[in-house]
Amino acid sequence: MAQSSSTPARYWHRTEGGRLQCDVCPRACRLRDGQRGFCFVRAREGDAVVLDTYGRSSGFCIDPIEKKPLNHFLPGTSVLSFGTAGCNLGCRFCQNWDISKSREVDTLADAASPEAIAEAALRLGCRGVAFTYNDPVIFLEYAVDTALACRERGLRSVAVTAGYVCSEPRAELFAHVDAANIDLKSFSDDFYRAICGGGLSPVLETLEYVARETAVWLEVTTLLIPGLNDSDSELDALTRWMVERLGPGVPLHFTAFHPDWRLRDRPQTPPRTLSRARTIAQANGLRYVYTGNVHDPVGQSTWCHACGALLIERDGYELGAWRVTADGRCAACGTTCAGVFEPSPGRWGARRRPVRIGGR
Ligand code: SF4
Repeated sequence: MAQSSSTPARYWHRTEGGRLQCDVCPRACRLRDGQRGFCFVRAREGDAVVLDTYGRSSGFCIDPIEKKPLNHFLPGTSVLSFGTAGCNLGCRFCQNWDISKSREVDTLADAASPEAIAEAALRLGCRGVAFTYNDPVIFLEYAVDTALACRERGLRSVAVTAGYVCSEPRAELFAHVDAANIDLKSFSDDFYRAICGGGLSPVLETLEYVARETAVWLEVTTLLIPGLNDSDSELDALTRWMVERLGPGVPLHFTAFHPDWRLRDRPQTPPRTLSRARTIAQANGLRYVYTGNVHDPVGQSTWCHACGALLIERDGYELGAWRVTADGRCAACGTTCAGVFEPSPGRWGARRRPVRIGGR
């Protein structure tokens, strides 16, 4: 059965002036009665803060896990994916703005409880559930309950997030999910402030926390926007930081921008920019660097960092040759490939299949 859409929110406190301050993300919205936060889905109702989108989704789709993107977590499997509405950042280049900027409850077409979502994932043959399309940080209570329902059924859960979150809710979210793709949108605080309406340091803290203090499998995505975050010096600094603070085995995905939302004056990212970024990252010691949103089988395949052999061939989201042993090693030289692997790859392929889970 679907649950009601409004539920008591966690992580807030009363300020001296009588406002209720949300402590989920560094935006720290201070709410008067009836007021909504920047994300639109957390709001003050009387003497409490509530989450408006509990049990409501913008729709469900079975996606390849590679679309999250996660290339080292159960490759080839399918994941039941959903989002809600709203976002706690205001990225001018947002590629999901119809969901993230939504002020319309109508966007939330599907009503489904955490248990119904996990049951549907099982029934549909998915290996897990992904919180994606918008940021699970803002629907934390719904995401955590769904992750718990997944674990009870032997399923995995995946968070796709910008990592702009305070320390306590961060610890709660990442205690319950099994894998995450976290955006590192730039290595410049100016970029985060001017283009995203956020800040860089909370994101770096989240990345370090997940990589060093949790068992969550982590991959990172950087969307390259021509002239804004694609200089050699920034890519050099970003990838050096990743090697030093996260370790060389954390995969990095450089993806191509296409003009969208409020950033239509920039051209699409040329494929050569993605290749240049990949070369810089590899030269700095990152072992698994990928290109995305372009046709580039070499940049999308997984290669052994020790001997250079092809491990997993990819063309977009489609897998080809598989040369990983049953225990996750290079079939040629025996070096371990970082990630979560099973003896054989999944066979979901590149399909996307929208599904209905609950009612309206
Ligand atoms: S989660 Fe939403 S309400 Fe809370 S601080 Fe962030 S933007 Fe504001």
